[in-house]
Amino acid sequence: MMIPETDQTVAEAATSVDAEMRHEAGAYYKRPLTIVRGLGATVWDDAGRSYIDCVGGIAVANVGHANPHVVAALSAQAGTIMSCPEMFHNDVRARYLTRLAAVLPPAMDRIFLTNSGTEAIETAIKAARLSTGRAGIVATMRGFHGRTFGALSATWDPHYRQPFGPLVPGFRHVRFNDIASLEQAIDDTVAAVIIEPVQGEGGVYPADPEYLRSAAHLCQQHGALLIFDEIQTGFGRTGRLWAHEHVGEDGAATVTPDLLCLAKGIAGGVPMGAVGFGMRVAAFPPGLHGSTFGGNPLACAAGLAVLDEIAEQELVRRSAKMGARLRAGLEALMPEHPLIRAVRGQGLLIGIELRERVQPYLERLTALGVLAMTAGSLVIRLVPPLVITEEQVDAVIAACAEALR
Ligand SMILES: *Cc1c(COP(=O)(O)O)cnc(C)c1O
Repeated sequence: MMIPETDQTVAEAATSVDAEMRHEAGAYYKRPLTIVRGLGATVWDDAGRSYIDCVGGIAVANVGHANPHVVAALSAQAGTIMSCPEMFHNDVRARYLTRLAAVLPPAMDRIFLTNSGTEAIETAIKAARLSTGRAGIVATMRGFHGRTFGALSATWDPHYRQPFGPLVPGFRHVRFNDIASLEQAIDDTVAAVIIEPVQGEGGVYPADPEYLRSAAHLCQQHGALLIFDEIQTGFGRTGRLWAHEHVGEDGAATVTPDLLCLAKGIAGGVPMGAVGFGMRVAAFPPGLHGSTFGGNPLACAAGLAVLDEIAEQELVRRSAKMGARLRAGLEALMPEHPLIRAVRGQGLLIGIELRERVQPYLERLTALGVLAMTAGSLVIRLVPPLVITEEQVDAVIAACAEALR
């Protein structure tokens, strides 16, 4: 590759692209873009160009990039202690567990801490099997739960699953939002049903409130546990702290899961996950499950700062408000933009379904200064930091109007 001698930045860019291409294991489609810095809902590339970041680290940067509160908590904790496995007590972990438990659904007061979403799912599946003495797991078509073997067995997309068999036995998939097929699938061999309250990766499909209520009822009836995968939808993403809180909005009954899986936005970008255990779930006997990094004080410090920021900056309300603005703006484009088949979502988890593959349109958006991602081949997924401003939302709408013409 030619490296212009005069332009240091371009030279560095060429170097980092080359180095990554040479050493990565090949698992990712990579965009020809080197992101070097972020602030709030903006990121910059190595040539100094700014972008409105509707990828947000894949729904991770809820409190914004380089959030000063998170930065301060992390640097203070890094200079105090980072590693303290769960065989010891730790003051920061104790504070974090107390704070997280306070915002979990009622009567969900035990928590297992992990380092990622897929590990939270593994933990929930193990807890469900241990608790019920049963093996069956019912998951949904189009569902995404991660890529380790247990989580992958719950994930739907055959493209992710097929090359890696045999997967974990006992899993089956039913049609999403279809109460009848859930009824058929749940019997007394089922340990748990696992559902995303809004399917993210699968195309941004919110669950019907009645579907989630039926799932809870059927689980109760058959002694199975209900797992909500809120890894993507948690921490204010959908305009509620937890997406399943939308269920009560129609005035009918609310729904509480037995196991709640969290990750992504939990710690402002520091790898972390968590599983909340409800009253119907047995605790793990000591020694049966664990994690070297799980519950480390660095992640817990970041997690505390995130909970503070969500409360102090009123980010849940902001997510609802900015999400409504973004969605209304995108819906208003539809009459003039026949390419758009549908606009779906909740809060700042928004999908724009096109009548064609979205890839070229993502490139156009990038050229217009907006980073977005896919949710399947036909859906553009927008998951910006919840701190995104009104002006930025309007700029995203304008960019979509231009790019989807
Ligand atoms: C991202 C995601 C996962 C997997 O989380 P990782 O941290 O990538 O392992 C699981 N479930 C849902 C709904 C997700 O969005």
